[in-house]
Amino acid sequence: MVQIPFNKPFCVGKELYYMAQAVMVDSHISGDGRFTRLCHQWLEQRLNGQKAFLTHSCTAALEMAAILCDLQPGDEVIMPSFTFVSTANAFVLRGAVPVFVDIRQDNLNIDERVIESAVTDRTKAVVPVHYAGVACDMDAIMSIAESKQLIVIEDAAQALLSTYKNAYLGTVGHFGCLSFHETKNVISGEGGALLVNQPEFAERAEIIREKGTNRSKFFRGEIDKYSWVDLGSSFLPSELIAAFLYAQLEHAEHINRTRRIIFDRYYSELQPLARSGHIRLPFISEECSSNGHLFYIITRSPEERSGLIESLKSNGVHAIFHYVPLHSSQAGRKFGKVAGPMTVTDDLSERIVRLPLYYAMTPEEVDRVVELIWNFYKPQAGQNGR
Ligand SMILES: *Cc1c(COP(=O)(O)O)cnc(C)c1O
Repeated sequence: MVQIPFNKPFCVGKELYYMAQAVMVDSHISGDGRFTRLCHQWLEQRLNGQKAFLTHSCTAALEMAAILCDLQPGDEVIMPSFTFVSTANAFVLRGAVPVFVDIRQDNLNIDERVIESAVTDRTKAVVPVHYAGVACDMDAIMSIAESKQLIVIEDAAQALLSTYKNAYLGTVGHFGCLSFHETKNVISGEGGALLVNQPEFAERAEIIREKGTNRSKFFRGEIDKYSWVDLGSSFLPSELIAAFLYAQLEHAEHINRTRRIIFDRYYSELQPLARSGHIRLPFISEECSSNGHLFYIITRSPEERSGLIESLKSNGVHAIFHYVPLHSSQAGRKFGKVAGPMTVTDDLSERIVRLPLYYAMTPEEVDRVVELIWNFYKPQAGQNGR
């Protein structure tokens, strides 16, 4: 039986060649060598002039952003409950309290209409998560943030090169956090980046990333010795990672285009099942362009979801669901709190299914997944379309 995995890591070009260069030519495999500089340049120029810092993960980028927010114990940070754990953990590590709010029905992003009522005098920041690489309503969020003096940290882990009104995601808020984990679009195994969009934070970000030292200044010859000057940790990746990543960044547009083609194929082939009301498909508004990061469908009930995932699995197709909403997880209940109803989060998190989607996925593989979904619904959907 043909097996279709959920994800498959891939090379698009010179990944291994650049890694060999880091070792054999540069003789530099710790952080901040030639390939890290190339990645920084790519991110800054391609995403329009922001200061970029490569990290070993998006988790690390979120942790750096949390340190830069200067949070005091008990300070509050508003975020969706429907997200990955790192969105919350980074702030909990600083003693802050994640305040979970509901998501929108249409695109599963934070519901900007409930943010304002979750703001208290302890609120310091808000974290829009661009789910599936589709933008949150950044105009609304930035305007609330401005009126309440909140820092905006975009969790753009899934959103490299996606746009909101022509601005790249991760460059709209004060900070943007990107992921290059092997399940994302552009990958380096583990990897990430912090985009610092307000110049006044850049110098401190550089220090925090280098274990709280001013070592980067020292290497640029701006000071004659380096020492411990602030909080920090080792947030930078090795040159081996940066070399792999740079080869992928060189083909980032191509990678995203390839994923969009797979996304569009799923979309058009499943549309009749959506029209007949059996499933719901992703929604992307006019203001957003998406990088085709992930393709999901929403089933009619949690039981139907389990049935569908089982049926795909027994036919060699690995589909998955996520997230266990943070507000109902063990650590979320311990460290966070909830503002307002969680109706949409509770409902959709139990009905969502993510379908396989990876760079090397063939049209035949997409068709196979679609066929199995059609077969699952066939007893009910027989008359409709195909
Ligand atoms: C993948 C992901 C992260 C974590 O990224 P890492 O690079 O694995 O640390 C954080 N937030 C969201 C929304 C993600 O999808």
